[in-house]
Order: sequence, then C-alpha cells, then structure tokens
Amino acid sequence: MSPELVSSKEDSVLKAIISDIHANLEALIAVMAHIDDQGIDEIICLGDIVGYGPNPAECVDIVRDRCRIVIRGNHDEALIHGPIGFTPMAKEAIEWTRKKLQPRFWKSGSKERWTFLENLQTQDTWNGYLLVHGSPRDPTSEYIMDREVHLGDPQKFTEIFSSFDKICFVGHTHIPGVFYEGPHFVPQREIEGPFAYDGQKAVINVGSVGQPRDRDPRACYLTVQPDDDVFQYHRVDYDADATRQRIYSIPPLNNQLGDRLLDGF
Ligand code: ZN
Repeated sequence: MSPELVSSKEDSVLKAIISDIHANLEALIAVMAHIDDQGIDEIICLGDIVGYGPNPAECVDIVRDRCRIVIRGNHDEALIHGPIGFTPMAKEAIEWTRKKLQPRFWKSGSKERWTFLENLQTQDTWNGYLLVHGSPRDPTSEYIMDREVHLGDPQKFTEIFSSFDKICFVGHTHIPGVFYEGPHFVPQREIEGPFAYDGQKAVINVGSVGQPRDRDPRACYLTVQPDDDVFQYHRVDYDADATRQRIYSIPPLNNQLGDRLLDGF
C-alpha cells in the first residue's frame, strides 16, 4: 500500500495547502513565492500560524490576506484561551506572542488581527475533503503520529478512518506523509512527485512551513489538483539562519527554537 504515483496534468487547476507556519516569516515568504510561481489561486491553511517563531503579526497578515480557508491550530487556540498541556518553552513563546498580538487602540490593525484569530473554525470540508489541524476525533489537539501505526491503539485509527469519506488533510505533528487504513504510514521522503487518490481513504499530513520535524529543514507544503484528486509535496529552501538569529534576539523565545530550524527536527 503505497501512494499511486501519477504524472501531473499540465492544464489542471492547482490549489495549495499549508500548515504550521509558527510565525516563521522567512519560510512563509519562500513558500508563498513557490506557490505564486505555479499560478495557484487558492490556498488553504490548516492552522498554527503563530507560536514558537519571531514574526506572528506579519504571518497572520499574510495568511489572512492569502488563504481562503483557515483552520484553527492548537497554538492559535492557546493564544486566545491560554496554553493547556504546553511545554514550558511553548508556553513562554505563546505568552510572548499574546503580548505582541493583543489588540491595542494605538496599534493599527491589531483589533482586526485578533478578531480573525478568535474566529477561526476548527474544521471545514472542501471538495469533499475534510480539513482539520490535528485529527477528525479532536480537530485542534489530537496528534496522529507515524509511530502509532505500530505502537498505538488500533481503535484510534478505526475511529479516525470512519469519520471521513475520502481524504482528511491534517498538520500538527510537522511530519509530512500519508496514513492509510491498516494502519500504514508512508513518509513524504518516500513519495516522489504527484500521487493520486486510488479509492483507499487517506489521512494526508501536509507537513510544516515554519518548523519541519522530519530531519529535512526545508519548508514543506502540498499542492492539490482537486478535479483529479492528485497531490504533490514540495520542499522549499529558505534562510533558516535568519529566522534563528531573530529568535535569538527575543529572550522569551528559547534559543532551541532557532537551533531546531537548522536541523529540521
Ligand atoms: Zn504546530
């Protein structure tokens, strides 16, 4: 059970799905340029626009401006309702982010930005696909980890696969790849080029723009040909060292958050 590799049709309409930007402006700009180079007119964002990174306001503004559907991530949720179950490093970062983004009458646009983040939806459907940040069972918070395929609770996968029809797109773990019923996981690095929906339900993790964790430091996102159910991963180089330096210059952001960008882990 591996993704069915196909050739991409020249004239197909292309859309893009991004996730887990985590306030990494350099990565987001590089991904947007890559998307624009392909003439893509519709972008979906699966959440975690903020948290960990040094440029939350700029990233929220780009996502607000460019993405047609935006789903709430657990860091976006923590910004509004407080961090629950966060590591001290993630908590400190979200508290710094809240100070940066909290609306102030003298900061132009801050109210609109905050209202946008407050009103994000936890799930949506698009072209018959389910869109969530984490998992269909718990859209904002539940992780679907690759290692659970062997070690996890089989009931979890049964419940997840029974809760959508064709494809469910997720982010949250920052590890791109495709889960099939079984369960079975195929990491992004083993998928070369476009692949198609072939009748097997799949949970497709689109990876992370701003903090990849699959030991490939390049930004990750997915393009979709919705008419043909064809998907393709893209990895995009960006100046991770510039983001790291910016993180170093903000004391509430732990230096490890910068260092991990160079390792992609
Ligand atoms: Zn995330």
